[in-house]
Amino acid sequence: MSDPRTHKAEAEFPWSALARSGPPKRPVAERVADFLEIYGLYDEATAQAQASRCIQCPEPTCVTGCPLGAHIPEWLALTAEGHFDEAATVLQSTGTLAELCERVCPADHLCEALCVINGHAQPVSVRAIEHFLNEYAFAHGTAALPPPPPNGYKVAIIGAGPGGLACADELARRGYAVTVFDSRKMPGGLLVYGTPAFRLEHAIVHRRIEQLEQRGVAFRMGADFAPDVLQAELLVRFDAVYLGFGLKKARTLDVPGADLKGVEQALPFLVQSDMDLPREAPVIDVTGQRVVVIGGGDMAIDCLRTAVRGHAKEVLGIYRRDEASMPCSRRELENAVEEGVRFEFQAAPVALLDDDSGAVRGLRLVRTTLGAPDADGRRPFAVAPGTEFELAADRVILALGFDPEPLPPTSPFNGPQLSAQGAMVVDDNQMTSLPGVFAGGDLVRGPSSALHSVRDARKAAAGIHAFLAAKR
Ligand SMILES: Cc1cc2nc3c(=O)[nH]c(=O)nc-3n(C[C@H](O)[C@H](O)[C@H](O)COP(=O)(O)OP(=O)(O)OC[C@H]3O[C@@H](n4cnc5c(N)ncnc54)[C@H](O)[C@@H]3O)c2cc1C
Repeated sequence: MSDPRTHKAEAEFPWSALARSGPPKRPVAERVADFLEIYGLYDEATAQAQASRCIQCPEPTCVTGCPLGAHIPEWLALTAEGHFDEAATVLQSTGTLAELCERVCPADHLCEALCVINGHAQPVSVRAIEHFLNEYAFAHGTAALPPPPPNGYKVAIIGAGPGGLACADELARRGYAVTVFDSRKMPGGLLVYGTPAFRLEHAIVHRRIEQLEQRGVAFRMGADFAPDVLQAELLVRFDAVYLGFGLKKARTLDVPGADLKGVEQALPFLVQSDMDLPREAPVIDVTGQRVVVIGGGDMAIDCLRTAVRGHAKEVLGIYRRDEASMPCSRRELENAVEEGVRFEFQAAPVALLDDDSGAVRGLRLVRTTLGAPDADGRRPFAVAPGTEFELAADRVILALGFDPEPLPPTSPFNGPQLSAQGAMVVDDNQMTSLPGVFAGGDLVRGPSSALHSVRDARKAAAGIHAFLAAKR
């Protein structure tokens, strides 16, 4: 039976007449020569035309599929009518850190994957329109909200990652005096100390920090939360605390040779490529080398594309499942392939090989077979016996994610209950078992996403507001 909604859409809306067009993208030869963002902006006419492809369906799946519940059809309709100021205001006032989230959002798995015109035509280019509107908002001053009158309450936030910044933003909008503590020199968490500038330039993060400061948020950088004195002091000086200090313990590869020279962790490799950031470790130079990156997430794709920009001779990604199972953004995977990255799928390392001087010379791998998807949609894999093979490599980079690290036993924050994996346990309002202490992001979820950290932080800010209102 034919879908009546399709007929209505074909009759009334231009999605079938107007093809989706992506945002301008810098050519490969130009973009691999630097670390600048690769996407440009739609012009106003294109933004308006592309937004008009939205059919304004009554139950928008793009909204339900967005971890942040963004008001997508609302600002698409305003954009389609050419009301860019209003569209940008709706987007910025209802979205938290919208211009940061949009740059790292895997929209191709989320709102765009769920757009109802999929299957009939290419989905509405939600992310590119959002990119246009966010930059419009900053260019035209609609991103700046006036600071509300202070409400007399003080909140401490530990960790200036996307979760901490989002919590600060939400609380500052409600008149709280917010102080953000972070052990690093610059705020941004993994958005700065991880995500390469070709996906999110630091100036974009700094612009948001400046806006938060204008709204009264104070940043205490270089403040390590580890000393008990700071932790104890927080509970006395502040009415509530949000813990968003993420995860730092990088996962290692449990195979022989994993400690050979030339085997690197992803973060030091990514961070050193950034000229803005102070160097924290010796330079990992991949010029002229055969680089292999192990992993299938965004971090792996970032390492591969960073190796290309670092003038590696060959850049190969290894993933133990198939391409369709990769958790990374499709868009960034396509960008990596365009930039010359190759992949070896359904291959799992069983040993890293020594060149007899203690340095890595390659990998021994084994093929995998995949089973049917489990309840979470993940396909379990099994090693296929007798399929071992070797690959040469001068540098092996591990992009395997992070694990929780327990707090010191003397910490007053050791009170919050921890899960079996060591992650912090929270209730429906993101409150830990310590009253007034809230937590969210990777610290609670394990390695997750910037969007989920922002979602937790929004919930926590609402929880803090309710908690303090009840005390009032
Ligand atoms: C390379 C890479 C690429 C990624 N790509 C994407 C992507 O494309 N899309 C996406 O959605 N997600 C992506 N992620 C994941 C995303 O960055 C994280 O899920 C997100 O940053 C977690 O946010 P958070 O606020 O919980 O913690 P974090 O971003 O980890 O921030 C924690 C902050 O706490 C501070 N801190 C830690 N310990 C202390 C202490 N003792 N005292 C004081 N401060 C402390 C840290 O300095 C840091 O600033 C990527 C991650 C990496 C590493």
